Amino acid sequence: MIPLEEAQKYVLGRCPVVASVKRHPNDSLGLVLAAEVMTTEAVPPFANTAMDGFAVRASDTQEAPKQLKVVDTLAAGAVPQVMVQAGEAIRIMTGAPMPPGADAVIMVELTSVEGDQVMVEAEVPEGNHVRNAGEDLQPGQIVFAAGQVLTPGHLGVLASIGCVEVLVREPLRVGVVSTGDELIDGPQALAPGQIRDANRHSLLALLAETGFVGVDLGLVPDNQEALEEAFSAACLGEQRCHAVLSSGGVSMGDFDYVKVVLDRLGDMRWMQVAIKPAKPLAFGVVGEVPVFGLPGNPVSSMVSFELFARPALRAMAGHEELSRPRVLATLEGALPRHLDGKTHFNRVAATLVDGRYRVRSAGGQGSHQLSAMAAADALAVLPDGPGAQDGDQVEVLLLR
Ligand code: AMP
Ligand code: MG
Repeated sequence: MIPLEEAQKYVLGRCPVVASVKRHPNDSLGLVLAAEVMTTEAVPPFANTAMDGFAVRASDTQEAPKQLKVVDTLAAGAVPQVMVQAGEAIRIMTGAPMPPGADAVIMVELTSVEGDQVMVEAEVPEGNHVRNAGEDLQPGQIVFAAGQVLTPGHLGVLASIGCVEVLVREPLRVGVVSTGDELIDGPQALAPGQIRDANRHSLLALLAETGFVGVDLGLVPDNQEALEEAFSAACLGEQRCHAVLSSGGVSMGDFDYVKVVLDRLGDMRWMQVAIKPAKPLAFGVVGEVPVFGLPGNPVSSMVSFELFARPALRAMAGHEELSRPRVLATLEGALPRHLDGKTHFNRVAATLVDGRYRVRSAGGQGSHQLSAMAAADALAVLPDGPGAQDGDQVEVLLLR
């Protein structure tokens, strides 16, 4: 067995960042910028009012209450035509440009209007409620650096500077294949010996949740020809994926042909990682495509995704932050285990109590017991030893 960190390092070292493409920002949510973005425009583009009220000369409000003559009205989108002279005011709506001569806005709540006169009831300082040009962004400024992950806020900023094209890392297309003669899909009754494929569905969902495009490569039987065809198309074909996840067929069984086929097609390493679940991991490169041969047990394939595939795929997509957050949590109930040379990743349900995490077992911890994985919010990291007791502080990997 090799340590988890060694296996993770091996995988990461063979997952280079993907090429970049030009896309509209609106099609780039969750993608990573491959080049910085500069603005040629100021935001806001001109000085404007943050309030509905009256544009005035601040000096005119010094002896408030003070009556001023209303000489114009400015709506948002209007172009000021009239200057504010001493003793004058212009009625102004939020977002409208500041008229020349005015240097402050008094909010409408502090005024009363009679005919063409406004009574200003408070003294306001220069610049009151004025949003100056470039207060958010200056022309020539670097708005976002390369490596930035685009969130809804970033898309808003890009729209506000008129940006219609960004250079981003390609959205990752990741193929998912389930292998095994026993697997079926759909509602039909199970024949003796059959089970329903779970892994393709959970892995495709994990990819979607991580912001990648899952490509469903279907079910493939334990048959060398069929496996070779599936992996060749996914890794070497015209429509090849950026990476491929397969599950099953990488253990010590007589019909674990995934091993045989991938060894023929690519440069694979077969690892026994000192973790439970998910000890066996096949990883390698077919053509130029990283292939993750995840174990078949449903919990193992998901945990293997979390520990190996997710960080590596994020690295390929250009992310700097690769891992799920690890925090300390107080354990409720015990998580017993035995000495076996492995680090265990137990499925736990987490709650936040007064800003601190508490975790308890999410159910049966067998690698076939997927319902505990479904109920889990985190994986508790149990180093080799006797396990953890009620009230212990344990390290957990937050899954959501
Ligand atoms: P394997 O890694 O192929 O030896 O499979 C290990 C265990 O996981 C066996 O009990 C398989 O039946 C089960 N298994 C393999 N693939 C899947 C799958 N896609 N969905 C559910 N169970 C699976
Ligand atoms: Mg199998």
